[in-house]
Amino acid sequence: MKVVVVGGGAAGFSAAMVAKRTGADEVVLIERTDMLGGIALVAGIGMVGSGAYMPLTEERALGGASLYDDVLYPIATHKEVTMPGLDRAMLYNLTKLDARMQRVAKENGISVMLCKTVSDIKMSGDSVKAVILQDKTEISGDAFVDATGTATGIKGCTEFGYGCVGCILRCPYFGNPKGLVDKKVKTLSQLNAHGKPGVLGTSVLVPIASLSEAYQRQLKEKGYVFMSIPEGVEPDMDRAKRAWSYQMPLMGQPLISENLLIVDVGGQVKVTANGSPRYARSLRRFAGLEDSVIASPAVGARGHLVFGLNVVARKNTMEVDGFKNVLCAGTKAGTVAVIDVACSGDLAGYNAVRKARGMQSLELPKALALGAFNSYVGQQIEARTQGGVPKSPLTNVDTLKSLGVYREKNEDIVSEVKKAGLEGIFNRPVS
Ligand SMILES: Cc1cc2nc3c(=O)[nH]c(=O)nc-3n(C[C@H](O)[C@H](O)[C@H](O)COP(=O)(O)OP(=O)(O)OC[C@H]3O[C@@H](n4cnc5c(N)ncnc54)[C@H](O)[C@@H]3O)c2cc1C
Repeated sequence: MKVVVVGGGAAGFSAAMVAKRTGADEVVLIERTDMLGGIALVAGIGMVGSGAYMPLTEERALGGASLYDDVLYPIATHKEVTMPGLDRAMLYNLTKLDARMQRVAKENGISVMLCKTVSDIKMSGDSVKAVILQDKTEISGDAFVDATGTATGIKGCTEFGYGCVGCILRCPYFGNPKGLVDKKVKTLSQLNAHGKPGVLGTSVLVPIASLSEAYQRQLKEKGYVFMSIPEGVEPDMDRAKRAWSYQMPLMGQPLISENLLIVDVGGQVKVTANGSPRYARSLRRFAGLEDSVIASPAVGARGHLVFGLNVVARKNTMEVDGFKNVLCAGTKAGTVAVIDVACSGDLAGYNAVRKARGMQSLELPKALALGAFNSYVGQQIEARTQGGVPKSPLTNVDTLKSLGVYREKNEDIVSEVKKAGLEGIFNRPVS
């Protein structure tokens, strides 16, 4: 039995791992660029504060979270950074991500196909029989996962952003990303704070060697530096409001919103959410950043990629309407943060195996944070189909509390998973 996962980002990798561990004989992971990781190659904050610990603990109890335990923690630069306004953040080394993902995928028997773009699908009734690569090769399978993300490439970045900025997706070289299901189902856009389609990514990467020595020491020791905004430097609010992070509750916290925060992501710092769209053009005016150089995006301060452009309405099982054997995961399924896309990937991989075996797909119970959050994101997408404006979908303490599923103690989180009879399901053959 064979599962084919399209898109080698955080969601696709997670789906492939769970599909293999839950009994697929063969798992093929197809990625259009020459690296695994997708946008996570420029993310770096693996854990955005304590709100992410609860879903992670639940995911581990379910037997999932391989992206975290096998990939991100082993390459973490700082495992639990507590800083004012943001506690227990986890930072990982961006330059080690692709190699680590490839190694773990190989060790787990996943066949990774790099530099291969899926350009079409071959259907039989409502079932996909094979995906067709640009070079016309057909890759057949019993179940398929669309984890192709929500960036649409140069056209999307030009129409809704500031043009191609030479980001990690490298569309001029590898061609534009393209969804598996887009041809058959209607896709939707996440809206930015201007109410316009698409959200800007927030990541400007600066080599640590180009920062002042005092900052280099502080980064090594603590993992982060806060700096106040120099007099006369005005924020670029048009860019800021296009950013997905602008809608994050974190941005309401004065320390985060009124200072520039840089974090250590391995040899380079990430100018985080609050600063990269607002101050990218004036970084050298900050004390300690006088010699700073923007390494990514390739065209420096010009801007960021636009994503959130082709989200797909899906069921809580991650099945896509109109297809008998296709699931979706990650940003494609409406989530954004690395932790959330990974969890949705785990579920999609698990249900891909169930589908391929002719079994009913699993919906996580809403008593679990992951079940409640997944359903909440699904409703946000549904609201959008009816003309509503989705809020930023992120697992944080406030969202989980408002859903009535926030638990602090590890034993309470694990016991809820046990009560649902789901302990370890993502890590043993489906039965
Ligand atoms: C700049 C930026 C910074 C961010 N920083 C953070 C952060 O610090 N912390 C955090 O939690 N979240 C962060 N996010 C959000 C998070 O990183 C992303 O939402 C998440 O990594 C997306 O994962 P994904 O697997 O859904 O999609 P993607 O990462 O977009 O992966 C999709 C993959 O599919 C491939 N693909 C597309 N079409 C095809 C095709 N037809 N054939 C084959 N392959 C295809 C693409 O090349 C890509 O590798 C950030 C987002 C951005 C844009």
